[in-house]
Amino acid sequence: MSNQENRTDVILIGAGIMSATLGSLLKELAPRWEIKVFEKLENAGQESSNEWNNAGTGHSALCELNYTSERPDGSIDIGKAIKVNEQFQLSRQFWSYLVNRNLIRNPRDFIMPLPHMSLVQGEKDVAFLKKRFESLSQNPLFQGMQFSDDPETLKEWIPLIMEGRTSNEPIAATRIAAGTDVNFGALTRLMFDHLKTKNVQVHYKHSVEDIKRTDDGSWEVKVQNIDSGQVEYHQAKFVFIGGGGGSLPLLQKTGIPESKHIGGFPVSGLFMVCNNPKVVEQHHAKVYGKAKVGAPPMSVPHLDTRYIDNKRTLLFGPFAGFSPKFLKTGSNFDLLGSVKPNNVLTMLAAGVKEMALTKYLVQQVLLSNEQRMEELREFIPSAKSEDWDVVVAGQRVQVIKDTEAGKGTLQFGTEVVTAADGSIAALLGASPGASTAVYVMLEVLEKCFPAYMNEWQTKIKEMIPSFGMSLVDNPELFQEVYSSTSEILGLTQREAIYS
Ligand SMILES: Cc1cc2nc3c(=O)[nH]c(=O)nc-3n(C[C@H](O)[C@H](O)[C@H](O)COP(=O)(O)OP(=O)(O)OC[C@H]3O[C@@H](n4cnc5c(N)ncnc54)[C@H](O)[C@@H]3O)c2cc1C
Repeated sequence: MSNQENRTDVILIGAGIMSATLGSLLKELAPRWEIKVFEKLENAGQESSNEWNNAGTGHSALCELNYTSERPDGSIDIGKAIKVNEQFQLSRQFWSYLVNRNLIRNPRDFIMPLPHMSLVQGEKDVAFLKKRFESLSQNPLFQGMQFSDDPETLKEWIPLIMEGRTSNEPIAATRIAAGTDVNFGALTRLMFDHLKTKNVQVHYKHSVEDIKRTDDGSWEVKVQNIDSGQVEYHQAKFVFIGGGGGSLPLLQKTGIPESKHIGGFPVSGLFMVCNNPKVVEQHHAKVYGKAKVGAPPMSVPHLDTRYIDNKRTLLFGPFAGFSPKFLKTGSNFDLLGSVKPNNVLTMLAAGVKEMALTKYLVQQVLLSNEQRMEELREFIPSAKSEDWDVVVAGQRVQVIKDTEAGKGTLQFGTEVVTAADGSIAALLGASPGASTAVYVMLEVLEKCFPAYMNEWQTKIKEMIPSFGMSLVDNPELFQEVYSSTSEILGLTQREAIYS
């Protein structure tokens, strides 16, 4: 079946934000390399990267409380918050490069300025938020953050949330105007539009069914054309498995030692979307609360202004739940099918350890709409059921692996799994997610193309000036890249209009 025509330099599996980012980086670094993309759906950015399937938060730890923890001595550990923020700055720089070069035209199509806020209630959480604010606001990456426990100020910041609030419990919030709402679906599609102009062959409705090593050390990918049912075989020296939730089963098919003893734990999601424009108008921020006891970090409730299809809307959630599917468009047999002799013990150990989480997720699935409204009313006391509908969000497949913490440990981050020779890489996990796509894809380049990194250094620095440097240790560089990316992405002028 193998023929010369089907040979290429790079195959990207999946047309989500990760493949879009890797393809765009590679086209700038190695313009002559031939790239093919296989995507089983009819367009790019239709799974987790789709605007309705994720929360669109440009994660930079400006509002997400789970990135800062309290140490036993009561001080606040902001290490993870700094890391996430620095990673997002890399994305901002690469997106600015694409806009500056006219490779993507209008930043308004995918990124909008939006204040990011954290909101807590009760004495203990208010004290935590204040300490968190004191630690973060002294750091250059979080400058401009404000704290208030004054109900009058909070009414100005979040009128919809404060209206009709009768509780006497202390309440407090932080607010920072530098936050963003990112339409990752639109961004993915814009990047693929650009890739197509650079002769990247993008094959939609083509599902990758198998991946095998060939005798010469490259990879053969078995692809099924969904419309015709025809099977094709394509070979490449390098394959990136960017199948989102579908990456784990494909990684398992490669048979590489690095694919063993890894499992996946699917978590589904739901958002509530407001259908009343008068309510939508009264809120302008992303407001993150605190996760309930026992809830996984990805189910922190938040009330978000969103910009989708050139329209301002309001979403609340996500409500996490359990579904055995690895993709929203996946099958109920995905989880079962991913259990292999090499990971069955890892999966069983996780099953035993994560009983409480599974129970929590099943309970969440069983919530009635009225029970979900009750959770929403903790944010908007006056919320009316008729103003809100439910939309199904994307699936997140969390990685399960054996770590120092024990067999079958659930991971909440992102994992890049590569073969020892760097000829194949897969991205697993979904957090912090699309916001850190540039950081994660640079990691793929470093792991898979070490021999090219010297040659590529100057171009990478041109695209991402802070590459390889700590922004927190170089506040002037941070100021420089932050100001220039705000300018290029049009965030400064629009900040003034919308905040
Ligand atoms: C509820 C929810 C909220 C989130 N909120 C945020 C947020 O606020 N901010 C943030 O930064 N991130 C967020 N994320 C995470 C973010 O959406 C993901 O990390 C990101 O979209 C993953 O991109 P991807 O390209 O890896 O996967 P995807 O966008 O899922 O793309 C994978 C593609 O691969 C295709 N595919 C799979 N298998 C095959 C196959 N065998 N053959 C061919 N094609 C295949 C799929 O059809 C899909 O198009 C959220 C995720 C969820 C689910």
